[in-house]
Amino acid sequence: MAEIIKINKDTWRFEDDFVRFFLLEGKDRAALIDSGANCPNALEMAKELTDKPIFLLNTHGDGDHTSGTAAFSEIYIHPADYVKCGVKESFPETKVVELFDGEIIDLGDRPLKIVHIPGHTEGSVAILDENYRVLIAGDSVQKGHIFMFGAKREPEMYEASLEKLIAMKSEFDSIYASHDEWSLPADYVEKVKDIWQRVKRGEISYEIIDVHDTKVKSYTTDICGFYMDCN
Ligand SMILES: [Zn+2]
Repeated sequence: MAEIIKINKDTWRFEDDFVRFFLLEGKDRAALIDSGANCPNALEMAKELTDKPIFLLNTHGDGDHTSGTAAFSEIYIHPADYVKCGVKESFPETKVVELFDGEIIDLGDRPLKIVHIPGHTEGSVAILDENYRVLIAGDSVQKGHIFMFGAKREPEMYEASLEKLIAMKSEFDSIYASHDEWSLPADYVEKVKDIWQRVKRGEISYEIIDVHDTKVKSYTTDICGFYMDCN
């Protein structure tokens, strides 16, 4: 059972062990942003917090962000992740509503801007909560290790996505992350980009470890880490 923490009068975070997700309420409806790793009852829990209709909006399609999907008739997600991350297969009853870059989803006096940031997955999006000047960045900007190994990752697209976020930094003051520390300052994107560039240039040492039964290169710094393919 996830622990629920109120952030402000119409925003909550759900701490589901090693991952978190969010509920954002507007005047007309509420968005559950992701649904955790072990939270099939995420919708029920969210209904305790708001009487507005709730829809499901995903930062990306990894399994630790989709556990509550079956309770929804539709999922707002980028089409690449709906297919490549197996959301379509795992939740055949839940229809996709395809997200696109630059789209505004209004909760009622609470616009959310969708920013496509491929890299961690091809369909990763960040969600800009304009009223609060907060960027919800999924796994793409965080203090923990960012998964960049395996078939569904697009590491060659990642740096351009970070640059896209840096170019819009006048629009947000903080970043809500899905793992590790929940809130980071806006300039954290630049710090993550710096680490990423140093990893690519071979300036940071790594160790080989097992993650989900796969041997990966693990890069660890005070800012963030990366798990990368071994070859
Ligand atoms: Zn994750």
